[in-house]
Amino acid sequence: NTVTYSSGSWAPFTNKLQSNHAHQLRLITLLTDDIKNEKLYFDIQPQVDLSKNKIVGGEVLLRWHNEYLGQISPAEFIPLAEQTGLIYKLTYMIIEKAFQWAAAHSKELTTHTLSINISALDLWQEDFAKRTSQLIQKYNLNAEQFTIEVTETSIFQNNDIVISNVAQLHQAGFKLAIDDFGVGYSSMQNLVSLQTDELKIDQFFVMNLLNNKQSQTLCRNMINLSEELNITSVAEGIESEEILNLLQMWNCQLGQGYHLHRPMTPASYLNLLDPGLSESSHQ
Ligand code: C2E
Ligand code: MG
Ligand code: MG
Ligand code: MG
Repeated sequence: NTVTYSSGSWAPFTNKLQSNHAHQLRLITLLTDDIKNEKLYFDIQPQVDLSKNKIVGGEVLLRWHNEYLGQISPAEFIPLAEQTGLIYKLTYMIIEKAFQWAAAHSKELTTHTLSINISALDLWQEDFAKRTSQLIQKYNLNAEQFTIEVTETSIFQNNDIVISNVAQLHQAGFKLAIDDFGVGYSSMQNLVSLQTDELKIDQFFVMNLLNNKQSQTLCRNMINLSEELNITSVAEGIESEEILNLLQMWNCQLGQGYHLHRPMTPASYLNLLDPGLSESSHQ
């Protein structure tokens, strides 16, 4: 017996869903292999002190180039890694790579902070803070040089494990940044109860600054809120001089964006900090 469809309207939809699943499965398989074979790496985007026009640190951004698929954005594969549990491995990998690099260049980076993104799911792991603190000791680094960035999600709400991990990370000396603030599940309560050190204004607001009055109001208020709570304000996605000028006028403390610096290789980052050093010493 052959099945005949009276209406074909749902069949293409099913096919599309299946091919999407197949694509995601393939991504996960290739990602798993490439993690094993150490094929992932990171770029760094400089963070600028907006009042002094000076680079004070950088954000570590995960990069994946696969031999079949080419360059794949973390925005695409991080959510998949979160769904499959691969994220835990991925997070420790990127933290260790960043520590390793920072330890190898501790002289050039003495007054610099490095920000590392983690998934909110990592904070659900009972031993996350403990393992991260052990890693920092392994590389003989100062935790105060590092900021852990996490995007708020619904799992933050009054979760004992999350709260305990954040407290332990603080105790070890790490700073905490709430990433993409102002969209999603952001709550002002978390800023206080998690003793947040840094508030990163989502790029959505920053990019709309010139053509959207509401974005202006929200941005200005997020900056003022940070100041009053003694939290460092960071604007992401600064793409023009006009936007930079507005943020400087409102006393936003730090900024990142293509207009300032694009994400770059760690070697280029070091070169930017001290152009006098030869490229060959930057591995
Ligand atoms: P994010 O942490 O909010 O990082 C900022 C993203 O905005 C980066 O994209 C950066 O390259 C991009 N960006 C910076 N300045 C500009 C600008 O002026 N204009 C525009 N249009 N974009 C700008 P990227 O590297 O593709 O990362 C996307 C997201 O993936 C990150 O957002 C973060 O949520 C996640 N991610 C990146 N690396 C990691 C990682 O190591 N671990 C985890 N868990 N997530 C990561
Ligand atoms: Mg980030
Ligand atoms: Mg962000
Ligand atoms: Mg993000």
